Amino acid sequence: MDPVVIVGAGPTGLVLAIECVRRGLPIRLIDEKRGPSTHSKALAIHARSLELLEKTGVVSSFLEEGIRVEEIVLDCKGNEESLSFKKLDSPFPFVLFLPQSRTEELLLSYLQELGGEVEWEKSLLDIIDGKALVSTPSGEKKVLEASWIAGCDGGGSRVREAAKIPVKKSRYTQSFLLIDAVVDKGGDFDAPHLFFGSKGMGLTFPIDQEKLRLVFPQPQTSAEALTNEEIETLLQARGYPKKIQIKEVLWHSYFHHKRMLATTFQKENIFLLGDAAHLHSPLGGQGMNTSIQDAWNLAWKLALVAKGASPPTLLESYTEERLPIALALLKKTSLLTRVIFSLQKIAPSLLFRSLAFFLHSKKRRKKLTHVVSELAIHYPDSSITSEPKRNEDWNGPKPGERAPDVVLDNGKHFFSESITPKHLLLLFSDKHDFIKAIEEEYGEVMEVKVFQDQNFREKYAAGPDSLFLIRPDGYIGYRSQKVKIEEVISYLLKIFTPISQRRKS
Ligand SMILES: Cc1cc2nc3c(=O)[nH]c(=O)nc-3n(C[C@H](O)[C@H](O)[C@H](O)COP(=O)(O)OP(=O)(O)OC[C@H]3O[C@@H](n4cnc5c(N)ncnc54)[C@H](O)[C@@H]3O)c2cc1C
Repeated sequence: MDPVVIVGAGPTGLVLAIECVRRGLPIRLIDEKRGPSTHSKALAIHARSLELLEKTGVVSSFLEEGIRVEEIVLDCKGNEESLSFKKLDSPFPFVLFLPQSRTEELLLSYLQELGGEVEWEKSLLDIIDGKALVSTPSGEKKVLEASWIAGCDGGGSRVREAAKIPVKKSRYTQSFLLIDAVVDKGGDFDAPHLFFGSKGMGLTFPIDQEKLRLVFPQPQTSAEALTNEEIETLLQARGYPKKIQIKEVLWHSYFHHKRMLATTFQKENIFLLGDAAHLHSPLGGQGMNTSIQDAWNLAWKLALVAKGASPPTLLESYTEERLPIALALLKKTSLLTRVIFSLQKIAPSLLFRSLAFFLHSKKRRKKLTHVVSELAIHYPDSSITSEPKRNEDWNGPKPGERAPDVVLDNGKHFFSESITPKHLLLLFSDKHDFIKAIEEEYGEVMEVKVFQDQNFREKYAAGPDSLFLIRPDGYIGYRSQKVKIEEVISYLLKIFTPISQRRKS
């Protein structure tokens, strides 16, 4: 088959490339840059991304290098509040801080281990009849045959333009001053801080043991470099709670708040992912994390369709599932940005008190950490998630929800014990007489696992006759409290083309 042409080797393109290669799909991954990026951009990797990176097989190198942050501290003139991630229902109850340049390097070296490569200095110029027209390093133009073209080429996406996919966008007046600096570590800098002083607020995040990212919501005044003393004064005016010495400014820039959403993420054989599909305020550190999930959502669907194991209509569920997630994210981050900007200047301590009040409720804290860590993402209205009859009384994870992790009776995690690029059919008794038939017909795309642990049954509110079908990206595709095989088969026929049918055609 023709390769999947992936345009852009940022985090989105790299994750998509890895997931395609792992599933045996041929790829061409091109990028117009001369080599890997050196910009620290995204620092925060959230729990859901780490869960997916574990499935990808690369999470251990991230955990070795990144800084684990369990809580974010809010400080206003000595009054402290905090937001803790320690109770997240995930094997990764923290936010991992790692510069995006390292994230990309780790992904690239894993792709190379799997036999993949980036073709640098190749730029997508146009898309003609579903094929990619690219320029090569020597300036020639070449046509790349493509089964599909994946636009992972960032906010100014050429793929999006070539496909003539319209966007909805707005640009706001708010901007953030971002500074990466080497600092004198006068204390413990590992916890990110939000601080509120007489002249507004600021944020700090760890980059590594001696570097910090400083963020100040404020309008752009000049592009000139700030002196170390000016930054120290700014920190004090914004209420930074510690004595700090800036030793070297590595980089500074203004980040303007803008919103952009493509009206569809698929047109014919062209897909948009990551920043090419959606752009939003950097508050909450969601951009790269959402992009990784786009790549995961699409990769397994492409692989099934490429093998002929699923009908091409399965691919429509990519836009159906991911566009509403991006839209909700745009709305939430825009609202938050506007509230913060309007209050931080005129009444920073009121903003602190409002946030502290919000965080006093255990329920709201839990909800907020689940949203920020992206564990709350789910696809309840997707046409490819279902159950025989809507069953609101059953407390087990619902169709479209993330299948939760369970610590098994042997102390191991269900997530790490069930890593597979296939669907997972989860049963709670080995007495079912249909297991062998399912394995014969669907074994190529599905693994059957029987868990009889008490912990498992409780977490999934499952009885011996319950069944869950978990998708490769870890969401519940189908569930049944009391399994009836004809109902399961009717769901499977919607998603997969059975092997016996493929042999006939
Ligand atoms: C300062 C800053 C801080 C941020 N902090 C966070 C954070 O903490 N957490 C978070 O989740 N997100 C954060 N983000 C957002 C995050 O960086 C982006 O969401 C992420 O980079 C998107 O990845 P991408 O691969 O989709 O696009 P990009 O990273 O933009 O990669 C696109 C790639 O496509 C290539 N390309 C472009 N056009 C072409 C073409 N025509 N042909 C071939 N190649 C092409 C480019 O060279 C580039 O390598 C931050 C962003 C910034 C700027």
